[in-house]
Parts: sequence; structure tokens; C-alpha cells
Amino acid sequence: MSAQVENVVIVGTGCAGLTAAIYTARANLQPLVIEGSLPGGQLTTTSEVENFPGFPEGVDGFMLMQNLRKQAEKFGTRYESGTVVALDTSAWPHTLQLADRAIKAKVVIIATGASPRMTGIPGEKELYGGKGVTTCATCDGAFYRNMEVAVIGGGDSAAEEALFLTRFASKVYLVHRRDALRASKIMADRATSHPKITPVWDSVPVAVEGVEAGAVSGLKIRNVKTNAESVLPVKGIFVAIGHVPNTAPFKDAVDTDEQGYFVPAAGSQVKTKTPGVYVAGDCADHVFRQAITAAGMGCQAAIEAERWLAEHGG
Ligand code: NAP
Repeated sequence: MSAQVENVVIVGTGCAGLTAAIYTARANLQPLVIEGSLPGGQLTTTSEVENFPGFPEGVDGFMLMQNLRKQAEKFGTRYESGTVVALDTSAWPHTLQLADRAIKAKVVIIATGASPRMTGIPGEKELYGGKGVTTCATCDGAFYRNMEVAVIGGGDSAAEEALFLTRFASKVYLVHRRDALRASKIMADRATSHPKITPVWDSVPVAVEGVEAGAVSGLKIRNVKTNAESVLPVKGIFVAIGHVPNTAPFKDAVDTDEQGYFVPAAGSQVKTKTPGVYVAGDCADHVFRQAITAAGMGCQAAIEAERWLAEHGG
């Protein structure tokens, strides 16, 4: 339908995608960025980012992403909303198939990030979003003023969510399947020493209670050492057990590992086996998964793409 051929299409608007946009825009390639269902990516759902270099007082995640977006726009980046459902690389330029249209591109940079992993326990799906189960304390924490809530998980996300929730909740249970947090020491210490946070060790979630009433009334858990089951009397459940990479629409064009993360070509972090297709950020990184490393990968992808285009009819 559309005869338009883009130089560079970047899929995703997190740190990786927007950094790739800044670099390719400054290289005068007029990149087109496809914005999906969560513009700005995961950082927009976090509160204060304390470890992004250059912000000694910390920076609000949403503000940081707004600024990156503006910075990319200033150099000529264009934005379109849409959901990519497939990437066809059988002919060049490549074709990105969106739900309602197709876009042809000489270079595609995939920076689709990762989505929250869910536990899959009974009741979780039924009571997700507005009924008591959520993955975002920043978004929903204020609804649980003076109530008891549970956070599931033992990583930095779980510790961060639990600490944020202490601003509103009367008590925060931190339910973890082992007896020590995976979170960094500073976050783990802050969480476990907070008077409003009660760690619940060696415990896995079993079911969300309250499905019949349409609102969470408790979290059933099981102690993995004793097998004893109990119910935490919570009104809110915050699931923070990691993420799943958003790579499914691209699986025919780019190799993925057993967890679904993109696997780059040998000798590069961002180049793929398909010429003109690059990956960056959390969709291709299950090791570091930081805002700054995602931004770094976006920069690498942009520079490699620019060089490739210069050699191959850019
Ligand atoms: P993560 O580090 O992968 O931690 C996931 C946690 O969930 C682990 O404790 C894991 O338990 C638990 N878990 C996984 N599947 C589970 C299941 N089915 N049932 C119960 N528990 C389950 O994920 P993350 O916390 O989202 O962090 C991801 C990355 O972002 C990390 O590199 C982290 O450092 C970074 N991050 C940094 C900050 C910060 O610096 N401020 C904030 C957030 C995230 P096990 O421990 O037993 O595996």
C-alpha cells in the first residue's frame, strides 16, 4: 500500500530505542520510531532513578524518558504509534508489518524491551488491573493508602516496589521464594530494615483470593520448607518477578535463546544474522538490563546501522 521506504525504523521507545533515535537522527538519517503500548518503556513505570549517570540527586523515570524523546525529536526523529506484528526480511528493504499497515525500511533497530512476568497462580489474571493485582507500584500504590499489601519477588524491582509502597500502605509483605533477596545489597538492606516491610521468606504464592467478590482479599502462600499454607490479609498484590522479552513478532528474522532473548551475531552485541537488522536493550540483554546499558546498546546499534547504510546504499 505505502511506497515509502524509510532509512531507519526503530521499534520501541525505551532507553535503547530513543538513544538509537538520537544517534541516527544526528547522523541525518531521519529515523522513524514506532511507539507501542507503553511509550517510554519500563522507566516510565518506575519512580526515582538513582543510578543513571549525570543525575546526582536522582531523576524521575518519566521525566528522563520525556527528555530523551524531546532530544531525539530535536534532531529530526519522527514518531508513529503502532504495534509491529511481524518483520519480513525475505526482500530488501525489509517490511515491518503493523496491525493496520506495512512500513518498508532499509534498516530496522528492534528495541522492544521486556514485559513483566506473571506468576500464573489462580486468581491473578481475573483480578489483574484495578481489582488488586498489579505490576506497578508507581502507577497504583496510592490506591492502597492505609491497607496491607504484598510484593512478590526478591530482586531489585521487588525491593524498590516494596519501599515505594511504604509511602501509602500500612504494611508491606515482601514474599520471596528463598531466604535471601537477590536485590543489590543497598536495596536489600533498605527493604529488610524498613519498619513497614515484613519479609516472608521461603514462600511461594499459591492463589489470589477474592475472585468471587471481584477484588483481592488475600494472598495464599506456601512455605517451601514446611509446606504450610497461610493467607496474607492483603488488598493489593504487586508482582515483581522479572520480565519476559518482547521478541515474538521478530522470531523469523532474528535468532532467540530458550528464554526468548535475541541472540546477536558473533562478534557484536547488536548486529543480527540478518543484514540491516539490529537489536538493543532489554529484548537482547538478560544480564545487565539497566537503563544505561540499554542506552549504550542503542548507541552501538545506531552507529553500526549508520556504517552499514553508508556501505549498502544508504
Ligand atoms: P530479577 O532480578 O530477575 O528478580 C526476579 C525475582 O523474582 C527473583 O528474586 C526471583 O527469585 C523471583 N521470581 C522469578 N520467578 C518467580 C516465580 N515464578 N515465583 C516467585 N518468584 C519468582 O528481576 P528484577 O527485580 O525485575 O530486576 C531485573 C534487572 O533490573 C536486574 O538487573 C536489576 O538489578 C535491575 N533493576 C535495578 C533497579 C535499581 O537499581 N534501582 C531497580 C529495578 C531493577 P530468585 O531470586 O529465587 O531467582
